[in-house]
Amino acid sequence: MKNKILVTGGAGYIGSHTCIALHQAGYDIVVYDNLSNSSREAINRVSTLIGQPIEFIEGDIRDTELLRQVFTKHEFFGVIHFAGLKAVGESVAKPLLYYNNNVSGTITLLEAMAEANVKNLVFSSSATVYGDPEVLPIDETSPRSCTNPYGQSKLTVEHILEELAATNDGWNLIPLRYFNPVGAHPSGQIGEDPNDIPNNLMPYISQVAVGKLEKLSIFGNDYPTVDGTGVRDFIHVTDLAQGHVAALNYLQKQVGQDKYSSIGFLPINLGTGKGTSVLELVTAFSKVSGQDILYQFDARRAGDIASCYASADKAKELLGWEAKLSINEMCQDTWRWQSMNPNGYNIA
Ligand code: NAD
Ligand code: UDP
Repeated sequence: MKNKILVTGGAGYIGSHTCIALHQAGYDIVVYDNLSNSSREAINRVSTLIGQPIEFIEGDIRDTELLRQVFTKHEFFGVIHFAGLKAVGESVAKPLLYYNNNVSGTITLLEAMAEANVKNLVFSSSATVYGDPEVLPIDETSPRSCTNPYGQSKLTVEHILEELAATNDGWNLIPLRYFNPVGAHPSGQIGEDPNDIPNNLMPYISQVAVGKLEKLSIFGNDYPTVDGTGVRDFIHVTDLAQGHVAALNYLQKQVGQDKYSSIGFLPINLGTGKGTSVLELVTAFSKVSGQDILYQFDARRAGDIASCYASADKAKELLGWEAKLSINEMCQDTWRWQSMNPNGYNIA
């Protein structure tokens, strides 16, 4: 069985952790990234951690010609497709950029895959496709809707994958719907490195803890939750990385069967199944890091929902995967990365 995987967006936060997990699981990887939201240093560090160089191609998923060359040079089993822009606020200001990058880029990638007859794909989708859920925990059959261009770009790609699988033979397409990825590699060598002031909760908390930011604003303390603050399903990025390995192993097993019929479109949640409130996360981080995390309550953030957590049963049943790491471990590893790299990959 072929075991070479093209990893688009492999220099990014989730991609870099997944590269390590893939290598450890015996996959060969080729990373393809335009470095629009990541750094070559992340690739260097992943190489050091796995003890061998990584084949890295600096390129854009909208570049048909370059993709064609890559698929001609390598015989891939499949693609893990992380490449995309992910800032909700920016997507509201620049919807065309988001649709061009995330939707057109994915179409260009799928065309290159079709041409090369590589039809196994694991795609980074998001719990955001569930909008404001009516029922918790959220399973994969929950209705989908989105309120911002970022979410809409993920949902549109899901629809494209669904239609492709329904009308064309041979495709095996697994969108993994991530809940809230946090944490870092236990070595403290790689982690999340936001370009600007973080939009997401965990990097914001860790930058307050390390003294880069003064105070956390907690958006809303009047939600119908355990303590009034929002509830999310935080999942350790190394657990998430293992979820990708499990999805690929599943594809390998299915494709390797004698009487093989394609999987089609198979969405799977990657979450822990447990909700944690914003305040609970702040308290856990403070305890683990030994730092005071200054915070104030502010108004609700537009577009936020009260609670969101996964049903993780499908991943367990089909992939044999479940998240193992606790909130304390998520905080510990984030803190190790943040305190060892106060300026992220910017080591100059
Ligand atoms: P990230 O920004 O760290 O990684 C994305 C990578 O894709 C970056 O290295 C960036 O340079 C690259 N990229 C972007 N556009 C590209 C293009 N046109 N061509 C080639 N490379 C390109 O983000 P992440 O947190 O690692 O997220 C990975 C994927 O998972 C994204 O698709 C994101 O939307 C999705 N996702 C992330 C989260 C989260 O909270 N981090 C949650 C749900 C889904
Ligand atoms: N949040 C917050 N302050 C911040 C960032 C986020 O209170 O500076 C809250 C946000 O309102 C939500 C939760 O933290 O309830 C998770 O937000 P994040 O942006 O990390 O992820 P989301 O679930 O929105 O994708």
